[in-house]
Amino acid sequence: MPAPGPNAALRLPPKCNACQSNRVAWTSPRVDFCYQCLPGGPFAAPPCNRCRARTDYFSQGLCSRCHPRSPEHIGSCKGCLAWGVYPRHNWTCWSCRWWQSHYPKGTCAHCGRASHVSDRPACRLCLENARLEQKPGRAPDVAAGNKDSQQLFFANMVFKRRVTPVPDYVSWAGRWSKKNKNQLPYQPGTRFNDHALEQLALFEMDPDPDVLRQRLLVEDSELTRYCAAIVANHARRYGWSVRQRNAVIQSLRLLQILRPTPTAKVRASDVVCLRRYDGTITSTLDVLAEADLLIEDVPTRVERYFNAKFIESGALPDTMREHLQLWLQVMLGGSRQAPRQLPREPETVELHIQGLVPVVQTWVEAGRQSFAEISKDDILAALAALPTGTSHRHFAENGLMSLFKILKGRRLVFTNPMRGIDLTRVATNLPLPLDPAVIRAELDSPNPAVALAVALVAFHGLTGKQVGELQLTDIVDGRLHLGGRDIPLAAPVRARLSAWLDHRNRTWPATANPYLLINRRTAPRLVPGGPSFPWKESRIRPRALREDRILHEIHATGGDVRRIYDLFGLSVEGATRYLKTVEHPDLRNEDQPGTQP
Ligand SMILES: [Zn+2]
Ligand SMILES: [Zn+2]
Ligand SMILES: [Zn+2]
Ligand SMILES: [Zn+2]
Repeated sequence: MPAPGPNAALRLPPKCNACQSNRVAWTSPRVDFCYQCLPGGPFAAPPCNRCRARTDYFSQGLCSRCHPRSPEHIGSCKGCLAWGVYPRHNWTCWSCRWWQSHYPKGTCAHCGRASHVSDRPACRLCLENARLEQKPGRAPDVAAGNKDSQQLFFANMVFKRRVTPVPDYVSWAGRWSKKNKNQLPYQPGTRFNDHALEQLALFEMDPDPDVLRQRLLVEDSELTRYCAAIVANHARRYGWSVRQRNAVIQSLRLLQILRPTPTAKVRASDVVCLRRYDGTITSTLDVLAEADLLIEDVPTRVERYFNAKFIESGALPDTMREHLQLWLQVMLGGSRQAPRQLPREPETVELHIQGLVPVVQTWVEAGRQSFAEISKDDILAALAALPTGTSHRHFAENGLMSLFKILKGRRLVFTNPMRGIDLTRVATNLPLPLDPAVIRAELDSPNPAVALAVALVAFHGLTGKQVGELQLTDIVDGRLHLGGRDIPLAAPVRARLSAWLDHRNRTWPATANPYLLINRRTAPRLVPGGPSFPWKESRIRPRALREDRILHEIHATGGDVRRIYDLFGLSVEGATRYLKTVEHPDLRNEDQPGTQP
């Protein structure tokens, strides 16, 4: 750097007197003009004395890159010796400008230069060299990094850096962040232990809710982090809200605190107990079940019903109880050994139990020990004791049929006593028409799900079950594919369909549920909406509405059973039930004055 003063060889030359923009051509001997403005000029500037560049002449025989006082002259940083800084920034790179404003002047203990040094004390160059060889998770070793030599840098090329490289298993797609304890990384290979030995508690004591809340704040373990990652993954796939995701992570934290053996898989009964501590039950069970971490130990509704009806009283003889339990197991789980059987709907099994209870009770009271003792006469006597004209007999017959069929199949009874027993006919009622004004009002319901469901039943005669189980993929280009039938949707249905789909996309944009009709509860899952959805919000029931539509059709066609059979997929008995109404005096021509059969 040239010393200042009038005689300094390379002091900053004054500007040209004429143009006031270029520097003077040379300073010794003194000239007041640049080459462009020299009297008798303009003259071509000579090449640079140092680099021989023919463009960009500055002054004193040097170009603007080579002249030390030119604003374009590039040099090394005063702090870190990095190449590529301009004099207008006081020959200092941006990192060193920050460094100088944070650390005092001093002598570096590693390279001996006088510079701004950290508390180590190390200059910035030594620290940067140590960072080149830094191990993940360790502080930079300044002494070892500068032992033999130093690597110089280009200035201003060091951008914001991460001190420790991110491990491979942390993906940025999941937006992991150190700030959020729900997204901390965990050791690879973290798993629940399938064979963890559980120490059962001698006394069950509920923890203090305040202590629990404090533990919840600091709870952290590899398994907790593993759980949180599972939930985050599940939540992303099912389009959960942040709130729902965090609630489930919170519940899993609670579980990890409460359970005496945190490494064992999770019992469903433990999850159900979380209700006491404001835990989330259903979604937590969903996540655990899908991750295969759940032990199902909560009896289902049917199993509870069965236990309440048969087991809890303790009056049942052992053989009978074992046989009934076998029957329940086959009904619910199906059977792979002969006679093979598919699992039955829990609702069906419940009706069978309902029918079996009074019959079994009379036999137990009569001192029977086993179903093998039951004869055809016993059954007829038991059935005769049931009130006539109600559905009790029908349910009892069905239950007994099912029970003895399975017991016979397993050779637990010698003969099937139900053989040759005439089944009672189911009492049927006459289908009644609905008030058209109510249907019209429900078709224009402000609830788009109700409007669509009512329209589907009213225009196409679907059952409530069919509507609930429609999937998005069943409707293609305004045509509904249903059980092999291809139904072109009516215009009013299509209008309500698009209104519903708009609403669905707006409310649950990320849902993965394949079903057409979803609600707040099922949007984060893959299950249909349940039998009362969306009919709970409506004044009509799908069965009544469908019956009304079939009635309407059968009156319009003059009792064409074949047509009803095709249109609505009814059985012959079912269609005949409607046919009766055509002759029924009360119903004749009621809503169809012009179509008398
Ligand atoms: Zn000039
Ligand atoms: Zn030059
Ligand atoms: Zn620097
Ligand atoms: Zn140093």
